Amino acid sequence: MDMTINMDIKSTAMNGARKGVRNGADYIASLQDGRSVWIDGERIKDVTVDRRFRGAIQSIADLYDIQCDPALSDKMTFTSPTSGARVGMSFIQPRSAEDLRRRRDMMKTWMDAVGGMMGRTPDFLNVMVSAHASAHEVFAVGGERFAQNIVNYHEYIRENDLALTHSLVSPDIDKRKQMFEQPGEMVMRVVRESDAGIYVSGARSVATLGPLANEVLIMPAAAKFPLVADAEAYAVGFAVSIDTPGMKMICRPSYPTTGKFANDPLSGRMDEMDAVLWFEDCFVPWERVFMYRNIKAVEAAMKSPSGPHGSHQSATRSLAKMEFLLGIAYNLVEVSHSHFPNVMVQLAELVAFVETLRALVRVAEIDCIPGPNGTVVPYEQPLNVVRAQYPAMHARALEILQFLGAGNLVVAPSVEDLHSESGPAIERYCAGADIPAERRMQLTRLAWDASCSSFAGRQNLYEKFFSGDPWRNAAMRGERYPGAREAQDRVWAFLDRNGEWEQRINGA
Ligand SMILES: Cc1cc2nc3c(=O)[nH]c(=O)nc-3n(C[C@H](O)[C@H](O)[C@H](O)COP(=O)(O)OP(=O)(O)OC[C@H]3O[C@@H](n4cnc5c(N)ncnc54)[C@H](O)[C@@H]3O)c2cc1C
Repeated sequence: MDMTINMDIKSTAMNGARKGVRNGADYIASLQDGRSVWIDGERIKDVTVDRRFRGAIQSIADLYDIQCDPALSDKMTFTSPTSGARVGMSFIQPRSAEDLRRRRDMMKTWMDAVGGMMGRTPDFLNVMVSAHASAHEVFAVGGERFAQNIVNYHEYIRENDLALTHSLVSPDIDKRKQMFEQPGEMVMRVVRESDAGIYVSGARSVATLGPLANEVLIMPAAAKFPLVADAEAYAVGFAVSIDTPGMKMICRPSYPTTGKFANDPLSGRMDEMDAVLWFEDCFVPWERVFMYRNIKAVEAAMKSPSGPHGSHQSATRSLAKMEFLLGIAYNLVEVSHSHFPNVMVQLAELVAFVETLRALVRVAEIDCIPGPNGTVVPYEQPLNVVRAQYPAMHARALEILQFLGAGNLVVAPSVEDLHSESGPAIERYCAGADIPAERRMQLTRLAWDASCSSFAGRQNLYEKFFSGDPWRNAAMRGERYPGAREAQDRVWAFLDRNGEWEQRINGA
């Protein structure tokens, strides 16, 4: 990594408070603020008690509780380099392959707790901001204060254990036009500045976890940003708290649920929500600005290792998710004793997915490369393979669950039916080979929610798009593959020996 500017930046905390890791109750209490969350035409007064949000909030709260379990302290936390408090392992700036393994162990613990079904658990952005701060020099392109700001911000979220969402992309109306040409002045941009900070207006999409987060990080998606002077007002990066005045979140509808977790175990517990952010003359203090009206800074940000570090988290999640789907599949087979060869072949496909993902994550850690300021960066290529291949693996895994579950997926009744007059009949026709109907129904409802429900559809969409336009990403990977030159040269060298072989075999 080319880090030519060698700045010696020390973090100077933005906020004196030193808290270290939070537990679930701390997290839930932190969401009870003045945030402007809109869904189904209403503004939500308190997301923590709203039926559309509270299941996922509890799932995230459980993750914070896990990191506070004294028995897991060494696995889930490390000692803050500035305060000495125990802070979340996902804030670490890894300095060795062993650090990457430790971080993955922590992330895998969280991901196993949610079956990999939540994409934007707080570790995702903790990892990315930690990576940005490790490469603070890239932010100095627009002025040294921006490099200092990213270091301070990293310390602030680490010491206060905050949950972040982020938004990298702008909505567009007419794809023939650049962001600064879009009609309706609806794309978020800087509208004015003062001695105290900047003001932004317009829309950013998509912010997954937005209503359940404490902070939002806004950065330009460098790979698709128009690097021209006209786009300057859009070339901005900053972070604000979710309850900042002048910012509202407009959410998609939540998934239809019955209100009973046995019926909709994923839809009810794991809807991390997606929202568009709408800014109206929203004030951002200078100390929270990381990039300001600077096209060169957008280009420079591409050198931040946040991409490979973020992919280390998402690949770990993919592994946990595929293991969870494999677990559902094996259980479906077990409860009906359907150990037929065609079924085993489908299970073997899932095994291949799991073991491929595990190997790719491991090799990214083992073959890590030196990064900025004494850190290491996971080797990007295997993680790129996960990003490229996982959407197809995931879609196939859902198809396998559908093949294995078949008609059972639609005959499993709700838990209310089991406790109704129809209960005795259901007890008989829904029973598994060796387990009672209620247990089999729970499993079947889970398989339905994972493979057929609205939740499952959104998961499929998420896997395709969460890290950007898959076609654009694939094109970049093809264009920039670093192993290509060596492979090409080997081919030319092979052809160069044709004459020698002529001589050796034909003597000509
Ligand atoms: C469930 C979900 C959650 C997400 N969460 C987040 C999040 O938390 N934070 C975040 O920053 N982003 C998030 N994303 C957004 C993601 O970053 C974007 O969806 C992704 O970058 C693609 O952008 P887009 O949706 O605007 O698609 P578009 O750019 O509109 O692309 C749509 C289609 O048009 C094609 N296309 C676009 N432009 C061209 C062109 N010029 N020529 C030819 N074809 C073109 C694309 O290949 C694609 O097939 C999320 C997305 C989803 C689906």
